[in-house]
This record gives sequence, C-alpha cells and structure tokens, in this order.
Amino acid sequence: MQGTRHLFVPGPTNVPDTVRRALDLPMEDHRAPDLPRFTLPLFADLKKVFKTETGQVFLFPASGTGAWEAAITNTLNEGDVVLAARFGQFSHLWIDMCQRMGLQVEVVECEWGTGVPVEIFAERLAADKGHRIKAVLTTQNETATGVQSDIAGVRRALDAAGHPALLFMDGVSSIGSVDFRMDEWGVDLAVSGSQKGFMLPAGLAIMAASQKALAMQGQARMRRCYFDFKDMIATNASGYFPYTPPMSMLRGLRVALDRMFDEGLENIFARHHFLAEGVRRAVDAWGLTLCAKEPKWHSDTVTAIVVPEGHDARRVIARAYDRYGLSLGAGLSVVAGKVFRIGHLGDLNELMLMSALAGAEMSMRDVGLPVEAGSGVAAAAEYWRAGGDRLALAAE
Ligand SMILES: *Cc1c(COP(=O)(O)O)cnc(C)c1O
Repeated sequence: MQGTRHLFVPGPTNVPDTVRRALDLPMEDHRAPDLPRFTLPLFADLKKVFKTETGQVFLFPASGTGAWEAAITNTLNEGDVVLAARFGQFSHLWIDMCQRMGLQVEVVECEWGTGVPVEIFAERLAADKGHRIKAVLTTQNETATGVQSDIAGVRRALDAAGHPALLFMDGVSSIGSVDFRMDEWGVDLAVSGSQKGFMLPAGLAIMAASQKALAMQGQARMRRCYFDFKDMIATNASGYFPYTPPMSMLRGLRVALDRMFDEGLENIFARHHFLAEGVRRAVDAWGLTLCAKEPKWHSDTVTAIVVPEGHDARRVIARAYDRYGLSLGAGLSVVAGKVFRIGHLGDLNELMLMSALAGAEMSMRDVGLPVEAGSGVAAAAEYWRAGGDRLALAAE
C-alpha cells in the first residue's frame, strides 16, 4: 500500500526517527576500554525513569516476559506462596508463569475490566499473620483491558498489615508513560520492556530491584543462570555485561532516554493523560463503552473498546488492517471478539492518534456498527483543540 501504515497496537509502539537512526550503527566492541563512559550514565539515567535512588537497574536481552522470570527466580523459592489477582491476559500470564515455575499462587479472580483489588489484598495480608505470602504481584497497567491500578495503595496495604512480602510490579506498558515511583511506593521488583513507553524495538527487558529484593538472592534457590542478578551486578559495576550486550539497542535506549528527559517525565505523563482523554471522548461519542469498568481504572496508555452485542470486534480489526493499513490491538482470550484496543503510548501526538480514531471509526461503519460518521473524531478534536495550548505551554 502507498503511504505510511498506522501502528496502534499497545506495543511495539512507534520508534521515533532519531531513535531508529541511533540503532543503525556499525557493530562495535562491547569490551572496549571506553564503554563504561557510555554504559554507567545509561544505568544512572534509567534509575531516574524508575524513580529509584537505592535500587539497581538491569538490562537483559529479552522481552518483558524475561524480566518476569528474572524477578521470580532471583528472589523466591519453589513452593513459596505469592498473592496475585487475575483481571486480564497479562496478569493471567504472570500467574501462569509463577505456577509453571513451582510457586503456589493465591489467585484472586477479578472481573476483566477491573484492576488490582487493593481492599481484598489488604484483607489477605492482614489475615496472613504467619507471613506465608512471600510476594504480592501487581500489574500497574493491564494492557489487555486498558486498566490502570493503584500500586501505592498496595504498598499501604502491606505497611498497614506490617507484612514483609516483596511487592512485584509489572510496568511493561506503564513505566515511562504514566506516574511511577519505585522508592516512594516501595516497589521491590519493577519490570518493563523496550517496545512500549521506551519507544524502541522489542528486545530489552528493562527492570529494577530494591535492596530488599537483592537481599533475597542468597536464600532464593530457584534455578537461574542467564537471568542471575549476581553475574549482571558483578559486571555492570564496571560498565560491562556478563555476555554480549545488544549494543545497538543500548545506543537506541540512550537516545530514547534523552528524548524522555528533554520532554520531562511529568510532561510525558500529562501528554499521555491528555491524549488518552481525547480517545475516551471519542468512544463516548460513538456510543460505545470501555472495557475498564470505572474511571479510576482508566488507562492512559491503552483503551480497550467494547463493541455492541451481536458484533465481532475481530471484523473491525481486520477491516482496519486490510483497507486502511491501521493496526488496532485485538481482544485477547476472555475478551476476544468483544473488544478492540487503541494503544496510545510512546512517541505520539494528537494528529497521529487522530489517524487511529478516524480509521477505527471508518472500519466500524464499514462492518455495520451503529456509529455516527465523524462523531468520535469530532469529540476528540474538540477536546484536544481546547486543551492543547495549555499542555504545550506546560511542556516548554
Ligand atoms: C507487553 C506486556 C508484557 C509482555 O511483554 P513481552 O515484551 O511481550 O514479553 C507483559 N506485561 C504487560 C502489562 C504488557 O503490556
């Protein structure tokens, strides 16, 4: 097809041109004497994104799923009890991994479209006087349903119960895009990946561990080798890696971080909220509903839109792809066919996102959804027009 394609799955996200050019380099010596001049500041700057001063960041050649595994194997033992809630495909897959690795998962089943059940967690933790629960798993942004959760609330629940369990957080589709404060919220293991808010291709697991999590390494006897924190810590200290690092990705990450700091993290968060709010106005104007059940769950990085009874969201997605070169996110598992998703994270502005809204609107009409022509596009446009100058000024 002529012209550009439009990528609006919630990861991989659009890679800015400056980052793409930074990836295209001659191969370089990963044991060069001056490499630490590049890598040490990279590690230090990543800590700023995680908002941790005391934690340790890790870059594993993997996707986000690899970081889940690293978090588990470096801190827990087979048979350990972990507390987790299932409310979407990603929270489900992390639970599934825990079970496959021999942990006992106390699963709180929640309706898809809701988020981390802070009150239920608080009750379970308060009731666990013997401290059987070794870790609490949370997903800050459930990408399958467009649900954002209150992680600071889980920390408060742990503290209120005086419970020593580790707090794990999947931030793959939220870190670098929405507010996250590792130290302040007492998150012990924070997990992300390169292809969402970090605006890179897939291939880097980006994560951080608190000192409390690092202290568990000695007693954690789960088998690990490639993802062992110990080898990474030992070599990273001097600016190197225990095996060949993906240097092109690290060079790209450097440019991505520079872009993030140029804009400012708080401005990035404000921009994501502003763009997301425009998408929500569009959904409202279409007469459709979000998969997220309540405003407190609204995600600023991805919107999952429920199609009316009797319609199949897969037809909307196929039409958008085939006819308009637009990739929308599919409904996964329990919500397959019921929702389609628009990813709105990373390198994005109003008019880029408008292509997704226009394409979704045209595709819905093409396959017979009762959506008024121009309705969603107009609602988003008017919202963005009214608030845009204020946001642009804030970013200056
Ligand atoms: C994308 C995503 C993952 C999985 O990451 P991969 O990079 O595909 O391994 C995990 N959790 C969440 C919340 C995600 O959005």
